[in-house]
Amino acid sequence: MTIPQAPTPEELTELRQRYRLERERRVRPDGAAQYRATEAEFGYYAADPYAGEPADRAPLRDTVDVAVVGGGFGGILAGARLRQQGVERVRIVEQGGDFGGTWYWNRYPGIHCDIESHVYLPLLDETGYVPEWKYSPGEEIRRHAVRIAERFGLYRDALFSTSVTSLTWDEASEAWIVATDRGDAFLATYVVTATGTLSQPKLPGIPGIEDFEGHTFHTSRWDYSYTGGTPDGGLSGLADKRVGIVGTGATGIQVIPVLAEDASHVYVFQRTPSTVDVRANRRTTAQDVGADRDGWARERRDNYLRIVSGETVEEDLVADRWTESAALLEKLLPSFRRQGDRGAFEAAYEIADAAKMNELRSRVEETVTDPDTAERLKPWYRYACKRPTFSDKYYQAFNRGNVTLVDTADTHGIERVTGNGVVVGDTAYELDCLIFATGFSVGTSGILSGKLPVHGRDGTQLLHALAQQGPRSLHGFTRNGFPNLVQMGSLQNASSVNYTHILDEQAVHGAALVAAAEAKGALLEPSRETEDAWIAVLAEGAPDHEWFHADCTPGYYNGEGRGRPNGPTSYPHGAFAFHELLKRWREESMTEALRAKAPRAEDSAP
Ligand code: NDP
Repeated sequence: MTIPQAPTPEELTELRQRYRLERERRVRPDGAAQYRATEAEFGYYAADPYAGEPADRAPLRDTVDVAVVGGGFGGILAGARLRQQGVERVRIVEQGGDFGGTWYWNRYPGIHCDIESHVYLPLLDETGYVPEWKYSPGEEIRRHAVRIAERFGLYRDALFSTSVTSLTWDEASEAWIVATDRGDAFLATYVVTATGTLSQPKLPGIPGIEDFEGHTFHTSRWDYSYTGGTPDGGLSGLADKRVGIVGTGATGIQVIPVLAEDASHVYVFQRTPSTVDVRANRRTTAQDVGADRDGWARERRDNYLRIVSGETVEEDLVADRWTESAALLEKLLPSFRRQGDRGAFEAAYEIADAAKMNELRSRVEETVTDPDTAERLKPWYRYACKRPTFSDKYYQAFNRGNVTLVDTADTHGIERVTGNGVVVGDTAYELDCLIFATGFSVGTSGILSGKLPVHGRDGTQLLHALAQQGPRSLHGFTRNGFPNLVQMGSLQNASSVNYTHILDEQAVHGAALVAAAEAKGALLEPSRETEDAWIAVLAEGAPDHEWFHADCTPGYYNGEGRGRPNGPTSYPHGAFAFHELLKRWREESMTEALRAKAPRAEDSAP
């Protein structure tokens, strides 16, 4: 690892000032309200392009052991881990026409995983599958989701093209009534919610967006019938088209080089440049990753999580720019974090961070030939203020004659959409096709969005309970007043860039909770005191990202620049430590999550 030169104190002062100015250029008073939901008149942006019209079926009125809401990796893993615990009737309800979640919906050209496949794809030890690339194409990942579902018999009871519309706890049967938009109202003894965090595509609220007369779509619903080609490229339908793409986040970075190869002209409308580090994708063999040993994938995944959580390990098994950057930041930091000296830690972190960002800015200069374009592609914020991205083709695309970078930072994005193009400043850009790579709404799907009302004991609505009492839970999974409900998600739990790992640990834990409740004939419901004890653990130390993200450039990581979240939202000592804590808890304290069932009249009958 080459250690970049640390900046001088004067350089640091200048950087701070530049970061502040660049942030001020971008913060908007309307924050997250600047976006439009892909609903109502914009609902066609979110329609399922793959499933066609769902087949007619009779509404279900039966009973299952567990209903799982969501068939992405969270739901599939919950299903697989429940099966391993011997649970028979697991019904996954999924809005899309098949399993896969994000990888079902996102099939845009150039789509790849940006986390190493050998740690991202779950259940590799269990399925015997070894990914073919260091960073898998989307289709390989989608097929792996299907593989897991087939292996664990999850198709048998699954409902596709179906959305859960409400969950209601029925005291009499001690089960949940699961209602859907297809008229179902079936009973489930347990419900696991795995609705994901970034699943509803969003559009920028640009005036006139509805007036555009050319072709338009969101990257998560790519229209190959218009562009031609496949996720591997060959977009022959664009050969004579002027294409505008809005958004240069992790998706835009992957799409733009493919568009550049095939479209007549590409206009990239950028508001904030991403950090784009070295990718170095390559084919891999089982030998490369030591896949001949039992448990190789688990070991690799744990090693990765430790490194990206800031721990020091003997060997970096993945050795890519995620792990190298994490290790670099740690290496440049003396052990302030462990000594608990917060001020010294933050100062040292800033120096390490500036060194890393200088390296990334130099990469732009070295690759992009036009100095003005290079300058506008440089990111001016701290590392990981936005999701880091990786590509060996992105900057090169701007050296082509058919790609134009349009910087929209000063106008807070595109100002206006017209019938035949877009307007930025004094310039109108005529377009045949306008593609939105503008990301996804945070917290607008699932039970925290209000679109899926959850009525617990005495009809209490989960959202009302949240509004009145704030987040309360045991480890984020279970909540008093909402028996036999297991929530997957990072609130009062943990998170990491390798989110499938997080989901798998949550699935293991959720399935163990269900098995424990079944074994004891009890309900899954922690007491208020147990929740209080967990909230006290969360409050012991504010996680690093809370102070860090407050000063970042706006984005979905920090509520579009709004700053710190209120109160502790996740385990302060990192995901790896959290998983260790859960493991110990399962061995020693499982009964804390259980509540005895109320005696029934027939139980006391002679
Ligand atoms: P993001 O939310 O990260 O990016 C949205 C982009 O749209 C930003 O560049 C944003 O600019 C831009 N934008 C929004 N509104 C406007 C506007 N009015 N004018 C101009 N530009 C605008 O979405 P992505 O789909 O790129 O990524 C979402 C997440 O999905 C990632 O963070 C990552 O977690 C995940 N992902 C993962 C991948 C993987 O391989 N594992 C691949 C792709 C995505 P600004 O930054 O200024 O707001």
